[in-house]
Amino acid sequence: MKMKREFSILPEGVTSANFGQAINEFETLLGKESVIINAEGVASYAKIMLPVDDEAHQPSGALVPRSVEDVQAIMGICNKYRVPVWPISTGKNLGYGSAAPATPGQMVLDLRKMNRILDVDADLCTALVEPGVTFQQLHDYISERNLPLWLSCPAPSAIAGPLGNTVDRGIGYTPYGEHFLFSCGMEVVMADGQVLKTGMGGIPNSNTWQVFKWGYGPYLDGIFTQSNMGIVTKLGLWLMPAPPAFKPFMVRFPDDGDIVKIVETIRPLRIAQVIPNAVVIAHALWEAGSTVVRKDYYTGEGSISDTAIAQIRREHNLGAWSVYAGLYGTPEQVELNWKMVSQAFKSIGGEVLTETELGDNPVFQYRASLMRGDMTLREFGLYNWRGGGGSSWFAPVSQARGSETLKQMKLAQDILGEFGFDYVAEFVVGWRDMHHIIDLLFDRTNVAERERANACFNKLLDEFSKQGYGSYRTNTAYMKKVAETFGPVKQDVERKIKRALDPNGIIAPGKSGIYI
Ligand code: ADP
Repeated sequence: MKMKREFSILPEGVTSANFGQAINEFETLLGKESVIINAEGVASYAKIMLPVDDEAHQPSGALVPRSVEDVQAIMGICNKYRVPVWPISTGKNLGYGSAAPATPGQMVLDLRKMNRILDVDADLCTALVEPGVTFQQLHDYISERNLPLWLSCPAPSAIAGPLGNTVDRGIGYTPYGEHFLFSCGMEVVMADGQVLKTGMGGIPNSNTWQVFKWGYGPYLDGIFTQSNMGIVTKLGLWLMPAPPAFKPFMVRFPDDGDIVKIVETIRPLRIAQVIPNAVVIAHALWEAGSTVVRKDYYTGEGSISDTAIAQIRREHNLGAWSVYAGLYGTPEQVELNWKMVSQAFKSIGGEVLTETELGDNPVFQYRASLMRGDMTLREFGLYNWRGGGGSSWFAPVSQARGSETLKQMKLAQDILGEFGFDYVAEFVVGWRDMHHIIDLLFDRTNVAERERANACFNKLLDEFSKQGYGSYRTNTAYMKKVAETFGPVKQDVERKIKRALDPNGIIAPGKSGIYI
């Protein structure tokens, strides 16, 4: 007879007795060591950087399956006892919720042990990976075999993974940086335990799963991204052939107001693919934040003062804006495009710099490595700016037009200022769109400051959505609120799909604001 167990937190609506039964069945299936319910083990999944209480995102435990069959069997037990699971792949998702679930009491479904690289095809430049594969692992696999292929990874790249990042619609900095666009074929475990292969994957004996995205009939892959309609257990990726020439560059501009002409200059070059990767336009404090600590320059109330920003810029030789992008292709193509690009930036007063002038400048080298898909952890430095471990990304989308920049900047600065936070931000020109990425950094150990950060983030969401700006991604604390900004019909359709595919609501309730 098993001992009756005590649980400090239970999934919503599940009795202690039923949860205990479910845990017993999970242990029989996976082995005790892969069912984590002890406080210390669970704590490693509960760490968050968000401006809300830990309790709001406290998991009840974690499951660590090793195979697709394990995941299918887990679905069976979850349905039987109504235990919800929150899938993570490498579980980093920093500033977007880390590994913790959207609502308390869910069990984290940690897929890190499903970490095989199933295929890398150097002719077709494709890969097929499991959820636990990290960018570092794939990078090592490629370099050990000397394959002429480049990855595209998000900023803190080494420890995150291509599957988790892609299904959460993360971005990277190479020409393949729109990760979901460059994915091809998924395997998904559905809530009823069926295994779906999207695209060409359903054809027995087909070898086209990783080369033709659309398959036949409705294109389903989208409903498994930023979503809770299934658990993705394999993902196909397109990899970039290593270009013969790569020229990363930086352009420095002296005034905040220069952002208008910067974006106007970038747009046509970007749409025509003369610049083929997302262009980052980093504000001075973003540049400073990874090396400079705020309190060395400012200890007063409110946002950091203009005088302090000017001092940081002077001492660290920073522009108001630093533009980063790269050219890729044959040496001849790159040379030709460089004439056009450098001329365009010079004609609007930019200081155009390349490896020749910048050498091993660490900030430039960091950006250059991101743009060729090399591994780095550097952006974590931003978290030292204010200290105290609080970070929440605010990421509204706009058209790639200069006229969008100053009004968004003023709106953000006014709201951040009202609550005493700093404008630590960059604009990223994707293709025709622009993401304004603002890191709301705060001291999470100070309860009053954390509450102010929460109020500030809510106001940012409210005021930006009133102006017609929606977020491309958000963290677990604001998923419902952001879903509401996209209107009731979208929410209704998503709920209907959710109820049809997962009638007991066992997969990630609350992800992107979707509940049954
Ligand atoms: P990374 O470590 O690359 O940041 P995560 O593993 O944290 O990525 O995944 C980011 C988010 O994507 C998770 O919080 C979860 O909502 C979703 N997700 C991750 N893996 C899966 C999966 N295999 N199936 C469905 N959704 C997933």
